[in-house]
Amino acid sequence: MSERSVDGVVVVGSGAAGLAAALAAGRAGVPTTLIESGGFVGGNSAILPWLGFHSRRYQQVVDGIAGEIVAELRALGEASEITLDPVCGSAVSMNSHVYRCVAMRLLREAGVRVMLHTLLVDVVRAGDRVTGVVVQRKSGSELVAGDVFVDATGDGDLSALAGADWAKGRTADGRVQAPTLVFRVGGIDREQFVAGLMRADIGFRDLLADHPVALDRLRERLPTQQVIVLGGFAGLIKQATEAGELDVPASRVVGVKTHPPDELVAVTTKVAVFDPIDADSLSDAYADAYAQVMPLMNFFVKWLPGFKSARLLEIAPMLGIRESRRIMGDYVLTTDDVQAGRTFDDGVAVGAYHIDIHTPDGSWVDSRSVRPYDIPLRALTVRGVENLFVAGKCMSASHEAIGSTRVITTCMAQGQAVGTAAAHAVHNRVGIRDVPIGPLQAALLRGGAVLRATLPEPDPDLIERIGIID
Ligand SMILES: Cc1cc2nc3c(=O)[nH]c(=O)nc-3n(C[C@H](O)[C@H](O)[C@H](O)COP(=O)(O)OP(=O)(O)OC[C@H]3O[C@@H](n4cnc5c(N)ncnc54)[C@H](O)[C@@H]3O)c2cc1C
Repeated sequence: MSERSVDGVVVVGSGAAGLAAALAAGRAGVPTTLIESGGFVGGNSAILPWLGFHSRRYQQVVDGIAGEIVAELRALGEASEITLDPVCGSAVSMNSHVYRCVAMRLLREAGVRVMLHTLLVDVVRAGDRVTGVVVQRKSGSELVAGDVFVDATGDGDLSALAGADWAKGRTADGRVQAPTLVFRVGGIDREQFVAGLMRADIGFRDLLADHPVALDRLRERLPTQQVIVLGGFAGLIKQATEAGELDVPASRVVGVKTHPPDELVAVTTKVAVFDPIDADSLSDAYADAYAQVMPLMNFFVKWLPGFKSARLLEIAPMLGIRESRRIMGDYVLTTDDVQAGRTFDDGVAVGAYHIDIHTPDGSWVDSRSVRPYDIPLRALTVRGVENLFVAGKCMSASHEAIGSTRVITTCMAQGQAVGTAAAHAVHNRVGIRDVPIGPLQAALLRGGAVLRATLPEPDPDLIERIGIID
């Protein structure tokens, strides 16, 4: 086995969390390696629109690296404006391919060594420290040594291999949110589509069904709104199912009408029986999800307004896994923390996306409101390991809290926080729990992050214009 010593930060997983962590650490001047099993950086963030820059009262809760990437894509004409939304706070769609190019360039400019097609398979520990990770590459296996490690694998692979405690799924039965194979549809007639959404019988947004004011205001904005989040059409699915034309777990069409006028990102395949860390279950889930793509396409073409000439453009390169291991940190963010909008002295990011749980049976979602809450650094330090951070959808939180923290923008904010903290620890030769919070928060603010101290007050004009649902 060959060896590579980084004497710096090693980030495993290049999704929203890992990408931001590596950028933050690299930009702070610390040797940084980013390890990714796939052939591109970005993970799920390179497949989907980004949600949750704003709270349900339209306060911007995330900026920093996430905001910078969106601004760069907008300057290139490759992203929508950030669109306020009463359920999701806000949404932005982007050309995911251009995002991947930009992300790779930013990593290079930050001096990050990116190792693609490189699978983490083992961890070397000395006492309570991780001293290296073993990776499998085309050229053989390699030991990558470092000072501080970041688990951004989404599955918590690094922490689990390091012997950390973890939990998975609901407390009652361990079942996780249903996964989805996302696909992109083109050839939609936007005018006909929007006209269809105006019809009272269509019900394109079930989470607004009990909020007629917000729904009416959304309908007024639709003709000019670049991004339209969808979660409904239940009646049409029922009719098609009863007609024997469709047989899928989903009871609603979930998706996002993105900014190219004729395109939609469909998030409607669902796999009802799934264990993300069982390799056979994972393979079977791909097969189940692929089997739903063409029946759903046929359903869209026949039943959805404006979809007569729609066609399949692209299937996501990886199954979208909403929830996997939850790694136990020094603190476990609770459901109550996010619903109450709790503050923490060691807050290093703010989240405000609603608790959005795609039920394990794949039928629909369970949504609950939250207030802007702090993510404390101690929910990102892995319990029992001296030099290991966790960030992203496998952070230390309850099943319900993950339903909020898992959104792309919030994962990026966590990544930026742990990357900045890891760089500080390496620079100053201190343990990750000895990084002083005040200077860390100041560094994050310099990096454009939003923290409690800079969280804006709700704007009554925006609330009046967009409508509010809690
Ligand atoms: C279907 C679906 C739809 C969603 N819709 C939205 C949406 O519209 N907007 C939004 O903001 N959020 C959405 N989310 C949530 C959000 O996309 C994810 O929670 C978020 O992107 C997770 O980021 P992450 O960095 O934690 O993990 P991931 O994006 O999963 O990244 C983890 C990375 O680690 C790599 N990796 C894993 N294991 C290893 C290993 N052993 N060795 C090396 N590399 C490894 C993976 O290849 C991957 O690139 C959605 C999620 C899903 C699944």
